[in-house]
Amino acid sequence: MSGQSSTPVLQLVNVRKSFGDELVLRDVSLTVPEHSVTVLIGASGSGKSTLLRCVNQLERVDDGLVLFDGEDICDPRVDHDDVRTRIGIVFQAFNLFPHMTVLDNITLALRKVHGVARDEAEQQARDLLDRFSLGDKASQYPDRLSGGQQQRVAIVRALAVKPRLMLFDEVTSALDPVLVNEVLSVVRDLRAEGMTMVIATHEMGFATQVADEVCFLRGGEILERGTPDQVIHAPQEPDTQEFLRRVH
Ligand code: ADP
Ligand code: MG
Repeated sequence: MSGQSSTPVLQLVNVRKSFGDELVLRDVSLTVPEHSVTVLIGASGSGKSTLLRCVNQLERVDDGLVLFDGEDICDPRVDHDDVRTRIGIVFQAFNLFPHMTVLDNITLALRKVHGVARDEAEQQARDLLDRFSLGDKASQYPDRLSGGQQQRVAIVRALAVKPRLMLFDEVTSALDPVLVNEVLSVVRDLRAEGMTMVIATHEMGFATQVADEVCFLRGGEILERGTPDQVIHAPQEPDTQEFLRRVH
């Protein structure tokens, strides 16, 4: 480990974000140490996606700091494309390019953004596909895959550029229930390998398994935070208790 390992991979300090008159993130502060998993829970509209999008700079924050490896990535002088290549994100809906094979989906960023030669990019992609039991899908088009396979390919694609941080935004919400576990097990594998992650999910059993810290968002603020035992199994706030009653 380098001497920098004590610097959190991600730190949010009093982050504020509005859309028009609506304050969507209210002074959100969050520390994500290296190799840790932070899970965001909360009702629809509570700000989970906006928080993740502010982290990888798909949205600009209005106020506060977003520190990535200690660097303030809200600074306009920062190369945001470069930051985005170091932060992988996977969304709820499958975002694969429909007109490209699985292999081309995965190698695109490696080749175009990172300048990796085609042969080498394809070898890396095949190694990753093998690791996630998708080796036989390399030449398929996305519409030939199940939703769970598509989502696993989307995760592999995000991993291909060797991100330092992975963000997952309700990656199983659009899936048939029987396909949920094959996707969650990929995330569990990543955790076992030490990947640093921030995950928005409604799967409370999964959250309990993977989270080092659980944050319950309500109306754009983190109302309650702690270990899964604390927040999911012994919530203190009435709103957290009410939310958990509804999702269980
Ligand atoms: P969650 O992911 O927890 O469901 P979101 O971050 O998607 O919550 O949304 C938080 C609030 O911000 C909601 O009220 C939503 O309508 C609003 N919002 C999100 N994105 C936009 C946008 N691009 N423009 C305007 N309002 C938005
Ligand atoms: Mg969302």
